[in-house]
Order: sequence, then structure tokens, then C-alpha cells
Amino acid sequence: MSLEGKHVLVTAGPTHEPIDPVRVIANRSSGRQGFAIAAAAAKGGARVTLVSGPVSLKTPDGVERVDVETARQMAEAVAAALPADVAIMVAAVADWRVDVPPTKLKKSDGPPQLKFLPNPDILAELADRPDRPRLLVGFAAETESVVENAIAKQVAKGADWIVANDVSGDVMGGAHNRVHLVTRDGVEHWPQMTKEEVAHRLIERVSKELQ
Ligand code: C5P
Repeated sequence: MSLEGKHVLVTAGPTHEPIDPVRVIANRSSGRQGFAIAAAAAKGGARVTLVSGPVSLKTPDGVERVDVETARQMAEAVAAALPADVAIMVAAVADWRVDVPPTKLKKSDGPPQLKFLPNPDILAELADRPDRPRLLVGFAAETESVVENAIAKQVAKGADWIVANDVSGDVMGGAHNRVHLVTRDGVEHWPQMTKEEVAHRLIERVSKELQ
């Protein structure tokens, strides 16, 4: 397996969307699966850019890491990292951001009426760019109809592959993952394994695809 001379772009972790100058809306993504993929790609010889939301993980050896907080910052960092041969979008990006007031929300004002605005869909936007990476991989975290929803996502977002995982258990933040790889040729059902093993196997598939 060699990704020598290839640039692999990975997003990982959650986003933090501020609701006022001190508070955020976050999610439970640990970043572990994305970091493992970045590590595996670097081990395979690739130049790796890892755009990460707020996580408490060590940067893997040989990986260039760009830290961001919000979805819009992540979108900017992804665009700045192009061109890439492969993009693997593992981050759990917030679909919505909040129209942030300039001052801290006060308890004495009662429950706040938050106004939500759509965030950019980083994966879908990347699929539409003229400098789209040759292989574009998305992740789909689902709690039901996992494969069906992943196939719909592949089409809707213009991704080549979708790695679908069932997050009804303790996948988010956990050490293991059971995934289904949706490619244009069909669906592969992978057995339950550690996130590091998923990463290794995915990077092997990527490397084969680029040969
Ligand atoms: O729509 P959903 O969030 O389920 O899609 C998941 C896939 O899309 C993941 O690959 C995720 O990184 C990517 N995504 C994105 N930008 C968003 C939302 C999701 O890149 N705003």
C-alpha cells in the first residue's frame, strides 16, 4: 500500500457553534475515527491535512493539523487545503449555526429565542468544485435504515463513497465501529472492529482505488 505523492484531506471532530460570546452548541463526536484515518493515511506515505474541530486528541505523526471551531471555519480551512487527491469528511458538522447576539444572553431575560441559520455543507460543496478531489468520501451516522440513508446521501451530496455507521449504540466517543462501505459498485458490510482497524482498511481501499 502506498499513498506516496498523494495529498489526503481529512475532517474530524465536532463543530462548536456559538450561541453568544461565551456559550456553544456542540455534539458528542470525539474525533477518534477521523484522527485514526489521518494517521493511517500518513503511515501509508500520503501528505495529510487534518482539519479538526475542538477535540482532545494528539496530532498523529506526520499529519498537518488545522484547528477550527465552527462549520464555516471548517469550510474555509478545507478550501484553503485544496488541491487534494482524496478528501475524507469524517467531521460531525452542525447543520445549523445561531445568529449570535453581540452580548451574553442573560438568565434574567428568560429562555432565549435562538435564531438558526443554515451552515454550509462542506462535503456537498466540495463535490461541486472544479478542483474536486478525485476520490470524495463522506461518513453517515445513522440510527435507522443505515445503508438506505447512506445511498441517498451518496447521491444527494455527490460523494464517491459513503462510510455508513450505526450510531444507535456507543459509537460516538466509543472505540469500536461497525461500518458499511457504499461505493458506486455496491455495498460492503464490514465486521465490527476498532476505529483504528476501520481506518487502516479504508486507507487500503483508497490506495487501491488510486492505483
Ligand atoms: O448530512 P449529514 O450530516 O448526515 O452528512 C454527513 C457527511 O457530510 C459527513 O461526511 C460530514 O462530514 C459531511 N458534512 C459536511 N458539512 C456539513 C454536514 C455534513 O461536510 N454541513
